[in-house]
Amino acid sequence: GNNNINAKLVLLGDMGAGKSSLVLRFVKGQFLEFQESTIGAAFFSQTLAVNDATVKFEIWDTAGQERYHSLAPMYYRGAAAAIIVYDITSTDSFARAKKWVLELQKQGNPNMVTALAGNKADLEDKRKVTAEEARAYAEENDLFFMETSAKTAINVNDIFYEIARKLPRA
Ligand code: GDP
Ligand code: MG
Repeated sequence: GNNNINAKLVLLGDMGAGKSSLVLRFVKGQFLEFQESTIGAAFFSQTLAVNDATVKFEIWDTAGQERYHSLAPMYYRGAAAAIIVYDITSTDSFARAKKWVLELQKQGNPNMVTALAGNKADLEDKRKVTAEEARAYAEENDLFFMETSAKTAINVNDIFYEIARKLPRA
């Protein structure tokens, strides 16, 4: 079969959770302490080789602010995959992530591969959301869960790789 897969992927989650930083880490291997906040959305692409396939991710990094919420469906509609990001040091960002999960369950593509990323895992001393709580929530909602750090690069390539592995093959 054709082993070149193009996959639209959207990042959703609260402003400041680290969506842009995860993309920057994945696409360029970089991290900025003062990452500029995203206006509207930004586009990136990156290719990954997974087993017998080459997956080209077309990544939409959204802004996350409430005032851009009405634009979100443009980015998640037709997406093969989503990463919903929260910040492990913020219970508000975890609550916001749950709202995104609900919205995708109602309005998103039912076959979407969806990951929940608990980002800023390097900030253990400021942690407010336990991994156990998030993992239980993810299992109930059929998401796969990883804690990530765009700063240290922990689990960043892994989460994209795991998505690529789970994508339906043509
Ligand atoms: P976005 O609004 O979700 O795109 O979040 P950004 O990527 O702009 O990140 C917001 C802030 O959090 C920036 O100052 C980043 O440097 C910081 N940040 C992002 N990811 C991490 C992380 O994994 N660890 C730490 N310590 N800071 C992070
Ligand atoms: Mg951003």
